[in-house]
Amino acid sequence: MMTGKENSAMTILMDFAKPCKGKLIGSVVLAVLGALCGMIPYIAVSRGIIMICHEDYAFSKLAFLALIAFAGYLGQVWFGTFSTMKSHESAFIILRNIRVAITEKLSRVPMGTILDTPSGKFKTIIVDTVEKLELPLAHMVPELTANILIPVLMLVYLFSLDWRLALISLVTIPVGAFCYMGMMKDYEKRYARVLAAGKNMDAATVEYIGGIEVVKTFNQGERSYKKYADAVAENETAKVTWFKQTNGYYVMGLSILTATLVGVLPLGSWLFINGRVEAGTLITCIILALGLVKPLIQALQYTDSLAMVDSAVKEVGDLLDEPELVRPTERAVLADADVSFDRVTFRYKETEVLHGISFDCAKNGMTAIVGPSGSGKSTIARLIASFWEAESGCVRIGGVDVRNIPLPQIMELVSYVSQDNFLFHLSIRENIRIGKPEATDAEIEAAAKKASCHDFIAALPEGYDTLAGDAGSHLSGGERQRIAIARAILKNSPIVVLDEATAFTDPENEAVIQASIAGLVAGKTLIVIAHRLSTITKADKILVVEKGNVAAEGTHEELLEASDLYKELWKAHMQGRDTAEEVAG
Ligand code: ADP
Repeated sequence: MMTGKENSAMTILMDFAKPCKGKLIGSVVLAVLGALCGMIPYIAVSRGIIMICHEDYAFSKLAFLALIAFAGYLGQVWFGTFSTMKSHESAFIILRNIRVAITEKLSRVPMGTILDTPSGKFKTIIVDTVEKLELPLAHMVPELTANILIPVLMLVYLFSLDWRLALISLVTIPVGAFCYMGMMKDYEKRYARVLAAGKNMDAATVEYIGGIEVVKTFNQGERSYKKYADAVAENETAKVTWFKQTNGYYVMGLSILTATLVGVLPLGSWLFINGRVEAGTLITCIILALGLVKPLIQALQYTDSLAMVDSAVKEVGDLLDEPELVRPTERAVLADADVSFDRVTFRYKETEVLHGISFDCAKNGMTAIVGPSGSGKSTIARLIASFWEAESGCVRIGGVDVRNIPLPQIMELVSYVSQDNFLFHLSIRENIRIGKPEATDAEIEAAAKKASCHDFIAALPEGYDTLAGDAGSHLSGGERQRIAIARAILKNSPIVVLDEATAFTDPENEAVIQASIAGLVAGKTLIVIAHRLSTITKADKILVVEKGNVAAEGTHEELLEASDLYKELWKAHMQGRDTAEEVAG
């Protein structure tokens, strides 16, 4: 597989291009044929000119040459077009392969990596970066081939006509090469600034739009806008600076390179006056010299595209190089569906947040995890769902270390209902069906009833057929979570991890959540990360987590007796409820 960093962009690209190797070779062959045909009009015209200068002509001969020139031109256009078609097909195959590789990769990297990546980055790579490759990939092969090959062929023909004029037509090349080198000096570094500024602007835009609600609510417009405006300004400055640094050389090179006649015209005239070259040859050489440089300049314009392709492909390579969760492929045989932590430690980068915790969550029961904010509750939930691996110690499901259970099997075993429940832009019915794609409508409604969301769904304008996107903005955090619970009920996996939504604290909502949790519990290992203690007073076991350690465990009543921290949490919760009721009242 890929090993991004040590691989050059070209190797990575070639890897993706393997399935369309035939098409790419076809594209090159057609482009070469097109370039060869492109020479025919020049040769035909030069033959015609030489004939005319020799006064050795007949209309039929000239008409024949014109026909040949036309056929050559047609050949150039047709072969060129077919070559471009083939290279477009290849480009689309390459883009598809890159996109598939990225999505497959995303399914193999730990979920935690995805959560830790700034939102927008994957979207930018999959959509924008990959899209940027289309144009250069689709056009580079035929156009570069033609634009390099045609001048080379012309030069060969020029040499065959008159080596002195051929040589003098090259006189501007060293000056042009000097300008090109000037343009290319530190090119990668300078162009990298342009690319970085563009990416930074994309990220700032995504953040600004994504956080617009907070920006408006907290009147942060100016500050957040400044970040966005700065990114836009830097994007402009980077481009203008790059343009200024490059453009002088570019214009100079362009003016000098194209001035092939500077040498050809005086030398040619001198040779002609002295009878050393024939009029026909001179005219032909002038025409060829005129046409020599333009394709080369067009080829040079691919410099930017090549740098851009290089950077885009490397970015894709880096993503494909992200460490993966290494899990076996063979299904594990589990004794049961209980969950246990055995001296588990875990750190986010530098900071250790779980310090060797051990506990068991029995099957057919509800284990609640409570504790102050930041104590590590959600981290525990995510370790059960294999979002990350434990640093040391081991998480077991049914007695088996999760590292020995294939990820698809974990996905079957565990339903993780997070706080942040994403609803797709589908009907509510389809959103619930995600839990079990083959579920009937009746099963979906039964699950919704169990999750206590049937009533509010039925009250929506189009009931279960309401698009979540339309209803989405009206659904409360609690309602969204109940839809996610309905999904989990439908999925019917033996382990359910519920990270309770913190959004709603009013007692009415609590009762509904409690009812929906009851819908989940039957016959399952239910683990609830509880932010409202009253929803879990009936739990079979409550773990009190404090600063990454299990401070106490027991039932609600036992803990009220034995754990000071639990007592404090309970007191704070009851006070919070009273305040909520007062506010509501
Ligand atoms: P809780 O659910 O109890 O509020 P968490 O498990 O979310 O606690 O967090 C435990 C600690 O880990 C906190 O200090 C939090 O700031 C930190 N933390 C949580 N998620 C991340 C993350 N993705 N990267 C770095 N630190 C994190």
